[in-house]
Amino acid sequence: MNLKILTFKGGTHPPHSKTSTEGLSIVKSRSPETVVIPMVQHIGAPCEPIVQVGDMVTVGQKIGEAKGFVSAPVHTSISGEVIAIEPRLTTGGGTVPCVIIKNDMQDTFYEGLIPYPDINKLTSQDILSIIKESGIVGMGGAAFPTHVKLSPPPGKVVDTVILNGAECEPYLTPDHRLMIERPEDVVYGLMIFMKALNVKKGFIAIENNKPDAIKSVYDAARGIDGIEVVGLKTKYPQGAEKQLIDACTGREVPSGGLPADAGVVVNNVGTAAAVANAVKKGMPLIERIVTVTGNGLKNPQNLSVRIGTSFKDVIDECGGFNGIPGKVIAGGPMMGIAQYSVDVPVIKGTSGILILTEEEAKLPEYSNCIRCGKCVEVCPIKLMPVNISNYALLDKFDQAETANALDCIECGACSFICPAKRPLVDSIRVAKREILAKRRKTQSK
Ligand code: SF4
Ligand code: SF4
Repeated sequence: MNLKILTFKGGTHPPHSKTSTEGLSIVKSRSPETVVIPMVQHIGAPCEPIVQVGDMVTVGQKIGEAKGFVSAPVHTSISGEVIAIEPRLTTGGGTVPCVIIKNDMQDTFYEGLIPYPDINKLTSQDILSIIKESGIVGMGGAAFPTHVKLSPPPGKVVDTVILNGAECEPYLTPDHRLMIERPEDVVYGLMIFMKALNVKKGFIAIENNKPDAIKSVYDAARGIDGIEVVGLKTKYPQGAEKQLIDACTGREVPSGGLPADAGVVVNNVGTAAAVANAVKKGMPLIERIVTVTGNGLKNPQNLSVRIGTSFKDVIDECGGFNGIPGKVIAGGPMMGIAQYSVDVPVIKGTSGILILTEEEAKLPEYSNCIRCGKCVEVCPIKLMPVNISNYALLDKFDQAETANALDCIECGACSFICPAKRPLVDSIRVAKREILAKRRKTQSK
């Protein structure tokens, strides 16, 4: 195995903190008594419920219809009775309409699930429609509907697909375990993407701190035309789309542009495996691997969790909290979202549940900028985080916009490296929100 080791300019090296789960096999989690399935689990238009209170539903049955092209339907992960349709708190921090189902513990599967064992018999359009109907979205966290990613705008020529197996976010290991335990699904998913886009070149890019995953995927992809497994230097945020494209192809995505502007579509390895499952077995996206970890938890695990299971059920299955928790985060410490409550459901984009201790969760006191320039050095987008942050803190959002605040991918590398512990990414997030709100207001006039 003679791999290229690729990387990008900038980035930083937060502690990996993956040792407690990277060696643990994926375990199927307990079937919950109830699930709360949000009608918004993706970027785009919310779904509309197509069931009513009192309906009996079966595993894999569609319960929410996508409204619009940029949207993805949702399906039930258990069989049982719909007991409520009402707004509930979700990991994004707000309430959204949810379908609540009581489990009959029968695991009766929906009869309309159709497997397609031979992709050679499928056209691009067939594949797109299977992916759309299966409710598949980006599983690396962004949750962008996958059929939309696979439909580049007219005039854009895509010649390369990259599967993202970097998993650079500290603590998280679902992709690592997936690549070790189901490498053939990852490779099959890439073949499906390549067929859907009619491209001849596919990369599977994996950070070189996961040699076992690299070997497993390399062996599964051996001899398949056009697929290349590449190693990536272990560096944060190696898994960000623009950085992956730069590392694998040397191409640059222009400011404000999309990967398709560089002729590339990027998907997560988990998304590829979900697509393989949808095509081979006809199974929609109703379950995902979640790393449940952190010093604030008794027994960290990689669990395969049904969508809609509450964080509380998942945490209980891992032995519960280890003392008083300081913070519960959906995702990892760099890009995850802190939660007010554990009464929120696992959704399609939940890659991890991280529990920090009280000590770990304490926010550091920040001090004046010492003009060291480290935030500028690490920014993978080549921004000036210190300047944008200062504009944001002074409410000078127009200047923040001129300094390209909207290009920030919110990776948090600048905040991590800052010796003065300045709230860089938090203030830049505020600037982005204000800039976008102003744009929307102008457009609606
Ligand atoms: S400015 Fe944005 S993209 Fe640059 S390091 Fe900070 S969070 Fe990451
Ligand atoms: S890293 Fe922190 S202290 Fe250094 S220039 Fe940036 S904001 Fe200032």
